[in-house]
This record gives sequence, C-alpha cells and structure tokens, in this order.
Amino acid sequence: MTGTQHISLGFTMGITAACLTFNEPSTVAGFTAICTVASIFPDIDVKNSKIAQKLKISSFITRLFLKHRSITHTPLFLGLTCWLIHIISTKSILLPDYTMKAWIMGYMIHLIQDTFTSGGIKWLFPLWLKPISLLKIKSKSFLGYITSFVLYGIGVALILTNIIRL
Ligand SMILES: [Zn+2]
Repeated sequence: MTGTQHISLGFTMGITAACLTFNEPSTVAGFTAICTVASIFPDIDVKNSKIAQKLKISSFITRLFLKHRSITHTPLFLGLTCWLIHIISTKSILLPDYTMKAWIMGYMIHLIQDTFTSGGIKWLFPLWLKPISLLKIKSKSFLGYITSFVLYGIGVALILTNIIRL
C-alpha cells in the first residue's frame, strides 16, 4: 500500500479507538499520533517512504542491511520494537501508558494492509519465509484504492462494535 493509504487508515483507526476510550484530548492526540507513526514505520526500509523522509539516517542504515519487506514487515520485528518500548518505559524515560497499544495497533494495520498486495507479508517469519498475499493487488490501482476503503470500513466497524478494544 502507499504511504497515504497507510497513514490515513492508521490515523482513522487510531483516532476512532482513542475517542471511544479516552476523555482527555491530549491522550486522544497522543494515542492517534503514535498509532499513525506506527502505521508507516515498517516502510522505513523504502528510500522514498514518508517515514524514511522523516528519519533519513535511520532509514539509510536500515536499507544498508535490509531489503524492502524483509524483517520490518514481520510480527517478529513488531515484537522487537515492543520489547524496545518496554525497555525504554521501564528505564527512567517516561512514555504514556497507551504507547504500546497505539504502536501495536498502527503496526498491525500496516501489516494487514500490505497482506492484500501482491508482495504480501511474511507473517510466520522466520519459521516460514513465503509471503502471504490475500488479493495480489497493486497499491496504486483502482482495486488498491477500493481495498483501502473497504479496510477503513472494516477497521472502524471493528472498533465501533467493540471487537477491537483498547
Ligand atoms: Zn509496507
């Protein structure tokens, strides 16, 4: 999916979940911001992605070692980043309580969206290296945009019906 498709779904689901869960505007804003950043973070392995343009040095270093859609697009890497968040939150640097949930939500949104593209996602890495692809669509195609809109609807519906809860 494109950066715009990732960022718009990450923002939409983040703000919907946060508005239904939190009363403080600053908490809603913080949760939404983290979820949105997480929803574009896996594409740090793409030179011209939105996150690579913001974190140029980190992206450059990542691209030296990793190909696109290698480990950054796996649940294993999500687990590693969660472990880092846990370490940071337990060592003097204060992160808001909701950081982990917002990060997981945004990151999973990205992985699920990319599962519908032709490249797919290695959901079972490192046990099974074959990418899983559900629709094999191109992100910038008509079908890609339709799929994005369907995913917005499903995502928001899952939150509104309390199937996804924070
Ligand atoms: Zn991606």
